[in-house]
Amino acid sequence: MEKTKLIVREKPREATISRVADAHCHLFDVDPLAVESAIRAGVQIMVTNGVDTRTNMQTLGMHGKTGIYCMIGVHPNNAVGMGDEELDFNLGLIRSNSAKIVGIGEIGLDYTSAKTDADRKRQVDVFKKMLDAASKIRKPVSIHSREAIRDVFSILESYTEQKAHLHFFEGREADAKLAQKRGYYISVPYLKSAQRADAVRNIDISNIMVESDSPTAGSTPSDARLAVEFVAGLKGIDVAKAASATFENTKRLFNIDGSRFMRSGL
Ligand SMILES: [Zn+2]
Repeated sequence: MEKTKLIVREKPREATISRVADAHCHLFDVDPLAVESAIRAGVQIMVTNGVDTRTNMQTLGMHGKTGIYCMIGVHPNNAVGMGDEELDFNLGLIRSNSAKIVGIGEIGLDYTSAKTDADRKRQVDVFKKMLDAASKIRKPVSIHSREAIRDVFSILESYTEQKAHLHFFEGREADAKLAQKRGYYISVPYLKSAQRADAVRNIDISNIMVESDSPTAGSTPSDARLAVEFVAGLKGIDVAKAASATFENTKRLFNIDGSRFMRSGL
């Protein structure tokens, strides 16, 4: 989740693309009407992430709702101010709710917010604890990395079996290629950057997902559709194909069968 003003708004939409998956969002801060509207716009999977104790509890409360799949974790920006007792409480939440979550997130490293060596060390320690927890329950992780991609890759090296998702990917082309080589997924929002475009162009569609990271920058889960258009344009494929490839990738990484959505009759 980015530090930006939280505004939930609707934008005009083009014709519905069927079956879009939003691989990373924060529904605890998104208007439920915007979630319903996303479902009507074809966003059949929303992978929502907690970032601290309060939002992890809120996220667990959404388990079982149509189209919503939950992850809980401790965001690097929250790791710094969190004491060991509260961290242990969150690790306990992960253990006791492992059947309700599709992975652990949002976790990672953010060196734009960690100003001191002590802050960085705390982020690294918490990140490793989250990765240990993920390997124990054998679930994927959703990783936030800001100016920390080298350390993220080097820490992940010790977790050879770990499935990982680098969300709101901001790495360079070489980082994207390394991610692909290790079998990780990257996901991109609709916000365009030349570096992100290069990353998407240079790795296989089978390692790419889309996300809204809503409510960051005023986005809603429906914006995952705009990210699909962004990916389709860069890969030179049609939008329907980009939607279905990124949808299948999200299902595969998070082991989502989608039957909950089907049963809802939507
Ligand atoms: Zn996020």
